[in-house]
Amino acid sequence: MLSYAGIGYVAGDATSTARSPVGIAHQPTFLTRESRDYNSARWLFNSRLDFHPALIATCRKENEIAAAVAHAGRNKLQVTVKSGGHSFEGFCSNNGGLMVNLSGMNQLSYDSRSHVLTAQPGCRLAQVSALLFSKGRLLPSGSCAGVGLAGLTLGGGYGLFARKFGLTCDHLIGLRMVDGRGIVHDSDDEPQRGAALLHACRGGGNGNFGIITEMRFNTVPAPKMFRSQRIKFRKLSPEKVGEIAKLWFAATAALPDDGFSAFVLNGTYLTLLVTFFEPGSRRAIEKAFKPLCEIAWKAEAIQVGPTENAVMRYYGRPGPLPFKNASAGYYRSYQDIGRAIPAIARQVAKVPGTVWQINTLGGQIGRADYAKQSVYPHRDYPWLGEIQAYWEKPARADACVENVAAIQTLLAASGVTAHYRNYPDVALKNWGTAYYGDAGLASIRAMKQRYDPGDIIRHPQSVKAHPG
Ligand SMILES: Cc1cc2nc3c(=O)[nH]c(=O)nc-3n(C[C@H](O)[C@H](O)[C@H](O)COP(=O)(O)OP(=O)(O)OC[C@H]3O[C@@H](n4cnc5c(N)ncnc54)[C@H](O)[C@@H]3O)c2cc1C
Repeated sequence: MLSYAGIGYVAGDATSTARSPVGIAHQPTFLTRESRDYNSARWLFNSRLDFHPALIATCRKENEIAAAVAHAGRNKLQVTVKSGGHSFEGFCSNNGGLMVNLSGMNQLSYDSRSHVLTAQPGCRLAQVSALLFSKGRLLPSGSCAGVGLAGLTLGGGYGLFARKFGLTCDHLIGLRMVDGRGIVHDSDDEPQRGAALLHACRGGGNGNFGIITEMRFNTVPAPKMFRSQRIKFRKLSPEKVGEIAKLWFAATAALPDDGFSAFVLNGTYLTLLVTFFEPGSRRAIEKAFKPLCEIAWKAEAIQVGPTENAVMRYYGRPGPLPFKNASAGYYRSYQDIGRAIPAIARQVAKVPGTVWQINTLGGQIGRADYAKQSVYPHRDYPWLGEIQAYWEKPARADACVENVAAIQTLLAASGVTAHYRNYPDVALKNWGTAYYGDAGLASIRAMKQRYDPGDIIRHPQSVKAHPG
């Protein structure tokens, strides 16, 4: 482990009410390739990726982050920021630049009077759930245990509870940030600028214009009991997949807001997951999914259990593992992709390990106040697709990655253009409008010009201060 010499602070912006770091400079621990902890610090959930930053700043305090950014500025190093390390494309890392590693900044606190959760960026979803369930509360977020709360929130954040309560970013009510000049901001201290900053961070904050060092969230009462059902099909022809998809789109269009469903096509096997948590929704769900249960290979009975235990079923595999996952686009209706489904199903079946999953959005995600307060632009799409490809033997990697690209081509040809920022694909053209829409892109660019005009904080799909 090497402590890097020569760290100092940049001067504060005299016109800003933002706080510059005060007091004695706290230096982060800087790791180089020779350092003992370098490899564990550059860990990514996706082991397909292999980045080697010149320096990794492992930070425990906000002013260490500010010092690391200032050091990068003086030395013209690109800065990327890692919280949970789950970016599909490793946008938290880089080759030859500085990675600010926040995984050790993982303190959580909950105020039982205001029900506000305060989280440092290195917190993982399972840690958040454990604390909040013990208080009878919930922050709607994603399902997998190890995903970082920061990356998830700053790009949107959806899961089993989003249709009822909104996205994770819709519950973000305050934050602290170190900008690209090493200056610290708190959204509460700067009424107008703080509101604009929060607006941009609700869906457009990951790795674009600053390093979020603290997030404050509203929470909601946790539902006590949770209900789920799996409906399975096997050995499906591509045409049959199309027929079932049509029924599934119809069934999920009728979901009550506490309902969630996933359509998971793995080779020629299809699993439909249905969940809900309000007992009164049972009849509507049974009615909506009856046509699918009647033609299924296996339709399991609806299981009921405490929410706290039930969510653990979706915690996922611990990493690292090699994969190529990407957004497969947002859909407004079955018609958006109906005609392409047999071709997509054929392509999925071609290479083992390929999965096409569609999850339900909609419900309260579409609330007008949430839309107004965030850059997240895709609120009127009730469905989101994801392509996944997994392998164990390295020799299969190329075929899997190529198959994902082939499916993307089919989706693009069928007119799919909107994509989820948290499911990035480096191969995507027009990623700015695909992730953020034109208005969102303009808001994020304004933040970039204000907070990181020198483009210090950047990754392959970060918004630039000046396009072109
Ligand atoms: C197994 C798995 C399951 C998933 N499940 C879901 C799900 O259920 N719902 C969902 O919505 N998404 C899900 N995702 C996608 C997930 O939201 C993104 O991968 C998210 O970006 C991960 O955040 P992270 O902090 O772990 O990742 P990191 O790799 O650390 O960061 C991801 C991005 O956020 C930026 N970033 C990270 N920390 C900060 C910070 N402090 N300040 C500014 N920018 C920052 C980085 O620059 C990078 O671009 C899943 C991903 C995986 C791999």
